[in-house]
Amino acid sequence: MATRTVGIIGGGALGLAAALRLAQAGRQVTVLEREPHLGGLATGFQVGGTYLEKFYHHLFGTDRAIIALIDELGLGGRMVWRRPPTSVLYGGRIYRLDGPLEVLQFSPLPLHDRLRLGAALAALKALPHPEPLEGETAAAWLRRWMGERVYRVVWEPLLRGKFAHRAEEIAMPWFWARVHYRTPRLGYLRGGFQLLYEALGEAIRSRGGTVHTGAEARAICSRPGGGATVAVAGLGQLSFDQLLVTLPTRLFKRLAPELPDSYGAEAPEHFGAHCVVLALDRPLQSAYWLNVNDPGYPFLALVEHTNFLPASDYGGRHLVYLGNYLPMDHPLFSASDAEVLAEFLPPLRRLNPAFEPCWVRESWVFKAPFAQPVVTVGYPKRLPPHQTPLPGVYLANMAHIYPQDRGQNYSVRLGERMALRLLADG
Ligand SMILES: Cc1cc2nc3c(=O)[nH]c(=O)nc-3n(C[C@H](O)[C@H](O)[C@H](O)COP(=O)(O)OP(=O)(O)OC[C@H]3O[C@@H](n4cnc5c(N)ncnc54)[C@H](O)[C@@H]3O)c2cc1C
Repeated sequence: MATRTVGIIGGGALGLAAALRLAQAGRQVTVLEREPHLGGLATGFQVGGTYLEKFYHHLFGTDRAIIALIDELGLGGRMVWRRPPTSVLYGGRIYRLDGPLEVLQFSPLPLHDRLRLGAALAALKALPHPEPLEGETAAAWLRRWMGERVYRVVWEPLLRGKFAHRAEEIAMPWFWARVHYRTPRLGYLRGGFQLLYEALGEAIRSRGGTVHTGAEARAICSRPGGGATVAVAGLGQLSFDQLLVTLPTRLFKRLAPELPDSYGAEAPEHFGAHCVVLALDRPLQSAYWLNVNDPGYPFLALVEHTNFLPASDYGGRHLVYLGNYLPMDHPLFSASDAEVLAEFLPPLRRLNPAFEPCWVRESWVFKAPFAQPVVTVGYPKRLPPHQTPLPGVYLANMAHIYPQDRGQNYSVRLGERMALRLLADG
């Protein structure tokens, strides 16, 4: 019997993990990635000769699938595990808030609220499955169990910052997963996660697979008898016995007009990610991760990467991300870099009164659509099934990792599961 051919659209964590497992199982795999580099949302760019992600990235101790993959590809020795400070900006002050002791010392809340906050977080850590929370919003659950004041001070600014007008609709199982699986110990692949994606590309090629970058899929047509033909920029028509699409559902539907309207009709809305990266000539502040709970800042989170990794890895540059999730039609996505910097730099003086724009040696602005699924109540019922109405054509994307938040680990895990599914089906 001829070797089965599998096409995979998308060279991010999900598509590459699936491609590697399928190639290892003897399938003839072809990955099609639109961008010039592999890695999708976790792609890096060079700063001082080292890759840095365009959007801040780290791992948690519970991210087992990706940690195992990093080991398998011989990169385990590059993993750095530390407990860099995760903090919150409230009332103009920075408070560390990444452990039970820090919760008890969080002085903006009276002691009984701190105890309530700590007890409810401990209950979520202990709850093994989110089923009892299904159907409930995070806003309602947090108000009920932690109290109105804790909600207003700690959680509302985060939910509003991340989900804007949809904040009150966010599903509690999603919140549970964030508390349940996150660890204060964080991991980073020294040299950048781009090294993982390049190693994945090499591993797929070494097993006879083909990995195309700069290869945009423009149209998908089903083949009689199963499988699909894909029109690819620069490569023409490629035909596969099975096709795995890892794009957001709405993009997939645009590429495959044969799909019935009902497929993915209720697919979740996504927000886009917007991120300014600054290379400073000195440190800005002391936290690694800073949730901005004070009003008046144009960004939701500040991540000072070089409070985790040494600035010497980046030629002495101190690297600061200023990140946001926004509806994809938000004006910030069409603003020029100069306009963005004019808005983002002045508030840094409130964080560090000594800050001067001349500290900025280089800056970059990165934007990505479809970066954060809006995880509202009833979400799992709205996800389209992996097996699409086109025989032999499958869809698996970031939205399918519910109740997990987006994360490379869960894309790798889903990619590996999809590989097993494709093997079983054909
Ligand atoms: C701001 C931000 C912070 C994050 N922080 C973390 C973190 O700390 N830790 C962590 O583990 N994860 C983090 N993530 C999430 C992580 O980046 C994603 O979960 C993961 O990279 C998703 O991989 P994926 O393969 O599922 O999707 P994607 O990375 O979106 O891959 C899809 C791929 O498809 C390609 N594509 C699109 N259209 C076409 C087409 N027509 N033809 C061919 N190719 C196409 C895209 O270019 C892309 O490469 C973060 C994400 C963001 C946005």
